[in-house]
Amino acid sequence: MLSAREIWIDEKARRAGYESGAALASSHDLKGYRIEQLYRAATRELLDGLDDVTTLPKELRAALAAEGFTLDSVEPVVVQRSRDGQTSKGLFRLHDGNEVEAVLMEHHGERNTVCISSQAGCAYACTFCATGQAGFTRNLTATEIFDQARYFAKELARDGRKITNVVFMGQGEPFANFEAVMGAVALLNDPKGFGLGHRHITISTVGLVDKIDRFADERTQVNLAISLHAPTDATRSTIMPVNRKFSTAELMAAVARYIAKTNRKVFFEYVMLAGVNDSDAHARDLARLMKGPLYHVNLIPYNSTPDALLSDSDDERIWAFAKILEQLGTAVTVRTPMGRDIAAACGQLRAETQPRAKAS
Ligand code: SAH
Repeated sequence: MLSAREIWIDEKARRAGYESGAALASSHDLKGYRIEQLYRAATRELLDGLDDVTTLPKELRAALAAEGFTLDSVEPVVVQRSRDGQTSKGLFRLHDGNEVEAVLMEHHGERNTVCISSQAGCAYACTFCATGQAGFTRNLTATEIFDQARYFAKELARDGRKITNVVFMGQGEPFANFEAVMGAVALLNDPKGFGLGHRHITISTVGLVDKIDRFADERTQVNLAISLHAPTDATRSTIMPVNRKFSTAELMAAVARYIAKTNRKVFFEYVMLAGVNDSDAHARDLARLMKGPLYHVNLIPYNSTPDALLSDSDDERIWAFAKILEQLGTAVTVRTPMGRDIAAACGQLRAETQPRAKAS
């Protein structure tokens, strides 16, 4: 496996027309410490652009810039801020014109969570998800994923703040782009670079069983979230086509293997859809799937999307559903929506769980 620094320089070099980081280095007669300076400038010092890397000779900066070498592989197109100022949504353009979204959620200065995209579009076509409705375009590279976080990290750094959490809940299915996502995790985590602890990173999957096994074997401390959204095949297959490939039972078996191997908590996301998955019976079926303290359900108020013929469960239904789960011994939180006014949704996703928003 390549180091974070190697992943970074190889990708930046390829964008500038070289075969690899080594080819770029030999063309400019760059020593290892020069590459290190570039990498640190981008990932640790969070400098804005190549011109700010003043440890590098001016001519070298000019020569690299002339070849199209940049510290950023995503370019902000529009950044909107919610009225309460807690949520910022960025639309980013990739070199080929594709666009992806990332969202920063500031939890009253306690935590700053960035939600990032791993693919342009998504192939999984979940009926409630705006990205799923739009279809798949392509995988992002590790630095295209990382640079979304870098953008918001630079913004926060202006007033001495930092990103505290990163969630892969933006556009795309992270496990369908496994290598690049693990590369992005390495970039986020590198103690000599960005330096975000694994425990502050969460990957959310639609439920790709083979990849859950592979992820367990990675032995990282990165958190796993499962987009479950229904407790039975009958219901799940109507809203998540992936369920026809990996049944709910196969998915839950993979989760059990993951927990046996890692002893880590798993978060189950459950978007509350009126009349679809929100009955008392659904709550009881769901509770039966949750096998102990390492199973945690996150109920998510649905954000309506342009094409979907679905509606949101009202608050009363959500809390009644939560109450049933709790009475049956299942750990449950209700996610607080953020940035509704700017549809701060990577495919209409919502803010992260409030840590102790316990149902009562
Ligand atoms: N493909 C991955 C990552 C995408 S994030 C996955 O499926 O997990 C998916 C999450 O975004 C869902 O679990 C849900 O929490 C949220 N989400 C998607 N569409 C939503 C909508 N219309 N309203 C509310 N949350 C939504």
